[in-house]
This record gives sequence, C-alpha cells and structure tokens, in this order.
Amino acid sequence: MFKQDLLDFSLEQLQDFCTLNELSKFRANQISRWIYCFGHTCFDDMNNIAKSTRNLLNQISVISRPEIIERQDSKDGTIKWLIKLKDNSEVETVFIPQDDRGTVCLSSQVGCTLNCTFCHTGTQALVRNLNSSEILGQLMLVMDHLDDWPSGKNNRKVTNVVMMGMGEPLLNYSEVSKAIKIMMLDDGISLSRRRITLSTSGIVPMIEKSGIDLGVNLAISLHAVNDELRDKLVPINKKYNLENLIDACKKYPALSNSRRITWEYVMLKDVNDTKEDARNLVKLIEGIPSKINLIPFNPWPGSLFETSTQKNIDVFANIIMDAGFASPIRKPRGQDIFAACGQLKSETQKIRKSQANKFVPVHSL
Ligand code: SAH
Ligand code: SF4
Repeated sequence: MFKQDLLDFSLEQLQDFCTLNELSKFRANQISRWIYCFGHTCFDDMNNIAKSTRNLLNQISVISRPEIIERQDSKDGTIKWLIKLKDNSEVETVFIPQDDRGTVCLSSQVGCTLNCTFCHTGTQALVRNLNSSEILGQLMLVMDHLDDWPSGKNNRKVTNVVMMGMGEPLLNYSEVSKAIKIMMLDDGISLSRRRITLSTSGIVPMIEKSGIDLGVNLAISLHAVNDELRDKLVPINKKYNLENLIDACKKYPALSNSRRITWEYVMLKDVNDTKEDARNLVKLIEGIPSKINLIPFNPWPGSLFETSTQKNIDVFANIIMDAGFASPIRKPRGQDIFAACGQLKSETQKIRKSQANKFVPVHSL
C-alpha cells in the first residue's frame, strides 16, 4: 500500500492530511514537532500520541531519510555523503564546519540542465527535480549523523544551509521553496532566513518571487561581466542576459547593507580574471548592496579550465576591495574528496564524451 511521506507536506498539508484521517490539527502540530524538532522517524517513539493513532500513522505514512551509499571525510573536516534516492538516482550533500558555523550544502536536482562550462554537475546526463522530502531529507540526515537533535539545543552543529549543491534551485522552485519554508518553521528545524542562501545562475523570472516568498539570502553565480563571455560560461545568459539579471537583483526585496547580494565569481585563468574584468565587475553592480565571493576554480577530471594564479586572484580582490566591496576569497573546502563547489557529480551517470568535449575552450577567445 502507498504510504505518504510526511516530509513532502507543508505544515498546512500535514494538518489537512490529519483532518482527512480524523485526527485533529493539534495532532498534526505534535507530529510536526516530533519530526522537525526532535528528528524522529518512528511513530512508535511519539509518546504523547495514542497507540491507536500511532498504528494508523504507521499504516498510512512514513518519515523518510535517503539512503547513504558512501561517506567521505576530508582532512579539513568537510564531510560528503553520496545519497541514493528512491528511484536509485544519486545526489551529494556536503557538511562544511567552520569556526563560527556549520554549513550544509544541499542539492536541489539530480544533475543540472544548464551546462555551465566549468561545472562538473552540468556534465551529468540525467536530470530530475528533487522533491521536498529529498531536499529536507538531506539536511535531516546530516543532523542525524552529527547528533544535532533536538533542533533547539545549544551549540548546534548545523547553523546554515546553502542551496549550492547539484542543480539549479530556481528551476525546481515549488519543491525548494516548500523545503525551505519547513526549515524556517519556528517550531521545527528553526533556521532563520538569514542563515539560508539560495544560489542561482540567474533564472531571472523567479528571483523577485523567491525574495517575496522566502526572503532568504540571495547568491548570484555571475562569473563574467559581459554578455559575450557569460553566454559561454553560463549559457542561461543567452536567455536572461546581464541587463535582465542586474535589474532583477536591484528589485530583490529587503536589500540593505545588512542584507546584501552575494556575487559568486569563479576565477578562471586567462578567461575572466583580468584587472579590467575586476573594474567592470565593480561598475556592473554599482549601487546594489553587495558582497563578492571569489571562488578559485576547482578542477575536476576532464575540466577545460585552470585556476587563476594566486597573484591574479589577489590583484582582482584588491581592486574590488578598493571600490569598497567586501571580497572574501572562498577557501576551497573538501577538495581532496571532490566536495568543493562545482565538483559534485554522482557517479550514476559517467561523463559522456560528447558532452565533455562540446565546449570550445574559452581560453582561445
Ligand atoms: N546551480 C546553482 C547552485 C549550485 S553551484 C548556481 O549555479 O548558482 C554553486 C556555485 O559553485 C555556483 O556559483 C557555481 O557557479 C560554482 N561552481 C560550479 N562549478 C565550479 C567549479 N568547478 N569551481 C568553482 N566553483 C564552481
Ligand atoms: Fe547547474 Fe549551477 Fe552547475 Fe551551472 S553552476 S551547471 S547552474 S549546478
């Protein structure tokens, strides 16, 4: 018999489901607390719920976790899990411990349709959207493994979530937004909107909507400051060009000096890392409360690019800082286990030769 996965429900849907099964709204809230405050997956542990109700819940529903295929631990403390979903497709989830926080990087799709030329995920042939239970399941699985329940405890290990794993979150908006709303529920995992970051390559029509609905931090994968180059590096730029993208960012709700847009900029040797690029970047985002995140390119087997030299990265960063922008250089984490930005790609779909070779190296521009 089909059993409903309760992680696929918003709180309202859980309440409706309970009502349908002649359980009260109050019961729904109790169940939600067991799931999202305490991390329980077993109805029999819910000791303030009558046994007959627990039996019913066991018959009609489950609280899922994805299956772990492999766990890899980096020498810098980063952990990467390769996760198997119900249809046997695979995604990766990463935990990155830092001094003042612990960040979980979640995948939103199996693979990605957008084929950014420097990104490993984009070479994966099979693509499908994850549903809310598969997105939340990744986070809750990490919390299980780090013994991070109940969510209200002091010194939580998981303090931040970034939607920067596999996939383009704004192309799977309905499930991503449902999962994020559940993460933010006070009487639940209770992560504040300031601790959640949505990263997009620039799905312009969804940017304002996500700001209104969710109000989380926005990160834009910029990577180039003119359309000619961005068309090549981030091909979705052909559909939503820089002018459209910058306009949408200017309209992002609740922007202020304390709520700034993060511009992600991968540093590719001899491609986008000149002084002129840095100056044009400053001009492009003028007037928008911004932080710039320079990401040294993380190579992967078969990639066509090289990482900019440290000297070029420093010169680039200085130009940006002189213009008054904060410009942290993102330290690659978990590189030894291929857990760094853009290195994620489950092994279910091996890189297809035709795809790996279809990009003209932009070095030759
Ligand atoms: N699809 C979303 C989120 C996932 S990628 C997006 O593109 O924003 C998270 C970040 O890693 C993006 O900024 C992406 O451009 C960057 N990235 C991808 N491949 C990379 C690589 N090989 N080295 C460094 N950063 C990379
Ligand atoms: Fe997709 Fe983001 Fe990779 Fe581009 S960088 S291919 S949008 S995951």
